[in-house]
Amino acid sequence: MKQSNNLSRRKFVFASLMVPLVDLSRPLMAQELPLVSESDATAVALGYKHNVASIDNMMFPRRSTEANGSTQFCDNCIFYTGVAGEDQGPCALFPGKAVAAKGWCNTWTLKS
Ligand code: SF4
Repeated sequence: MKQSNNLSRRKFVFASLMVPLVDLSRPLMAQELPLVSESDATAVALGYKHNVASIDNMMFPRRSTEANGSTQFCDNCIFYTGVAGEDQGPCALFPGKAVAAKGWCNTWTLKS
């Protein structure tokens, strides 16, 4: 009987340890990533904004002065790996965070 209890206890401990491992092994979906804060130090340095209307054109004139500036959005940037049509997705510059599909930062580079 005691041996049976030890076996059950081991199974329980093993199962308890496996639950977090299973959750961690599942890749986070883009929609599950937290949206990067505009006050994040990297976001501030790069002039990142969720909405391009909020870009400080004096500090970051690139989007407002380039000929194709009005077509620059995160979802057509080389660093964006989100799914087309979704509101947000991962950006290589913000590991573990998402950026708005229609956001922008000064590092924007056209996806080829
Ligand atoms: S690097 Fe590209 S995808 Fe990332 S925040 Fe800047 S513009 Fe958006």
